Amino acid sequence: MGQTGLRLSRSLRFLNRRFREIRMVVKGLISTDHPILAHLIPIRRCNLDCGYCNEYDSVSAPVPLETMLRRVDLLARLGTTVITISGGEPLLHPELDQIIRRMRKQGMIAGLITNGYLLNVQRIQRLNDAGLDHMQISIDNVLPDEVSKKSLKVLDQRLRWLAEHAKFHVNINSVVGGGIRNPEDALKISQRAIELGFTSTIGIIHDSDGQLRPLREREREIYRTLKNQGKRSYSRLNFFQDAIAEGRPNHWRCRAGARYLYVCEDGLVHYCSQQRGYPGKPLEEYTVEDIRREYRTQKACAPYCTVSCVHQTAYLDFWRDPQTIPPVEMRNRTQQKLVQISER
Ligand code: SF4
Ligand code: SF4
Repeated sequence: MGQTGLRLSRSLRFLNRRFREIRMVVKGLISTDHPILAHLIPIRRCNLDCGYCNEYDSVSAPVPLETMLRRVDLLARLGTTVITISGGEPLLHPELDQIIRRMRKQGMIAGLITNGYLLNVQRIQRLNDAGLDHMQISIDNVLPDEVSKKSLKVLDQRLRWLAEHAKFHVNINSVVGGGIRNPEDALKISQRAIELGFTSTIGIIHDSDGQLRPLREREREIYRTLKNQGKRSYSRLNFFQDAIAEGRPNHWRCRAGARYLYVCEDGLVHYCSQQRGYPGKPLEEYTVEDIRREYRTQKACAPYCTVSCVHQTAYLDFWRDPQTIPPVEMRNRTQQKLVQISER
């Protein structure tokens, strides 16, 4: 396909995607009985081993295709509007294209979070053909080090291939915090993303419970600079991070388990990647009653939470429906940590 054909195809896809996104917002405003976003894990294995990550292993097999298709159908039955495939590294799943196809066939918006290592021109074209809507690549530093190999130097050729061939939207997420050595790298990564025609966002790395690790002064400055520049997109709905970057709590209603679902490789529904085990119920048995209960349930970990996708889905309902059900006892150290942080 020539450059004119590619540009036309991208424009048509953009319009189609925008239409479906508007429909998602309208549907979400009309009813609170369905998930807006689900993260679905097709494989826990990852080809990297980032020092801050608690979401991967090095041995797991891919979830069988039939099981994944069934999970997509179950999420569609709950009325889910967006599924984002995550991991582990989802490109390690050999039948990923078919999973994405099923998401689109069910009328959902299809997203993918990847470390980008396994991208090549052919793989990008397969993702185009499958109907992928959004891809996010997180890049942590300019040069690889012992904390992270998600580096601009390693990924730059893949980014150029994406700029030349991808028909889907690409967002590059850079990060501060969590032991990333040079916070200045986030500026360079964002600049490169904009140069290539992508959108760019900045994330704050959380600890193993999804909670804030306070930022250093230089990290805060970089965060503020990046927030004030760059392109706008729905993924820039990150106002909550302003308080987090300053080490202040957020007063918000986490709707995890209702408006956002995390479906692990075993097919269980969890609040999010950092609060696995709650409610920990099989997707096969998840109903609108579960959604209604969790929508009204407070989450003890909310004030210092940095899990951005859950914050973003909560914006749709921030103005309505106070949470009246007390939080379940969190098995991990979250409660204790909150006390420690607030006593500082
Ligand atoms: S690439 Fe992603 S899933 Fe893999 S170890 Fe790094 S942060 Fe975790
Ligand atoms: S507040 Fe919600 S999204 Fe954040 S860690 Fe807790 S359950 Fe997860």
